[in-house]
Amino acid sequence: MNAEASEETTTPEQNVIEIRNLRKEYYGPETVVAVDDVDLDIREGEFFTILGPSGSGKSTLLQMITGIETPTDGEIRIDGDLVNNVKSYNRNTSLVFQEYALFPHMSARENVEYGLMLRGVPEAERRERADDMFELMNLVGKEDRNIQELSGGERQRVATARSLVIEPDVLLLDEVLGALDEKLAKEMQVELKRIQEEVEKTFVFVTHSQEEAFSMSDRIAIMNQGSVEQVGTPLEIYNNPTSEFVADFLQMPNLITGEIVSVHDRLVTLESDGIEYRIAKKKTAGTPAVGDEVTFLIPNERLLFDNDHENTFEAVVTDTIFKGSYTEYAVQLLNDRELRVHETTGESLLSEGSEVKVGFAPDAVVVFS
Ligand code: ADP
Repeated sequence: MNAEASEETTTPEQNVIEIRNLRKEYYGPETVVAVDDVDLDIREGEFFTILGPSGSGKSTLLQMITGIETPTDGEIRIDGDLVNNVKSYNRNTSLVFQEYALFPHMSARENVEYGLMLRGVPEAERRERADDMFELMNLVGKEDRNIQELSGGERQRVATARSLVIEPDVLLLDEVLGALDEKLAKEMQVELKRIQEEVEKTFVFVTHSQEEAFSMSDRIAIMNQGSVEQVGTPLEIYNNPTSEFVADFLQMPNLITGEIVSVHDRLVTLESDGIEYRIAKKKTAGTPAVGDEVTFLIPNERLLFDNDHENTFEAVVTDTIFKGSYTEYAVQLLNDRELRVHETTGESLLSEGSEVKVGFAPDAVVVFS
């Protein structure tokens, strides 16, 4: 594709990566299906995060995008071109590793210029492009330091600069904040997001940390056992997790599993640990029947104090966490079940030990099965 054509067709919604039916098997004593029938579209210029527990296939997926691993089946397109058999160095992607893989005997500048040197970029241009990177990374003045003379965060930024300086269409980052201490990792989250916004490149970021994913991403794909469970903006996923795995992985507290004890026109009644909950029948899939097991989520902000809905329970406040504009309460029902309530902060807070009533509307729930 020539530059003119790509400019004409580039819109904010354009997909830079398109993945279809992607599968990766590793062969050993046992066959491992690391990535299982994945479909994914990643848009031009977005900060896209692949989030999932360890072993869910995130790194394998990333390595297939960058060309280190070859798919067993399926298709990967970058900028519209099928790249399954295109070598890593001929793809317009660049990978930043957790271990940075910087050359320890070289200075920061030599590390950053290395890729340009390989590509035969003349010295003056190399210098200029590296200088732009040092400025972008807030590393001016540290160009001639040896890698050992840099802090973890600075090394991370040199590694990011080294990958970005070759101007890839897509920058892939594999658990890059995992090796940093918590405070530094938080600072780097902010830095990475700033850098991504400044360079306007597509970043594909792999992490097992929800906090990183939810604080940085435009969109997130949640992986489980080689499959993508859900793709959406942080808010979409948080407000409407589409599977029990996602709700559980995100540790959404108000996830309840119960057995159907009666089915009426409009409502279904469930029993869980001695308490009955009523949920809207229209929220359940198929035809609910007595004896069926159902898991549902009450979003924290839909669980309310002192309401008149069909579900009202006596409870005791066990924890009060002031979060500024809202307050998070932990409450315990009579069966010891703990739930979380998010309330807009009012004139006074409920103290621990307060006896309260909590409830939710039957149609406020998200039902999974
Ligand atoms: P994640 O990045 O989410 O931790 P990985 O993509 O590293 O997951 O691994 C997915 C699965 O594939 C795991 O079961 C892992 O043990 C297996 N796996 C990863 N790399 C290899 C390999 N080179 N050979 C055999 N199995 C592998």
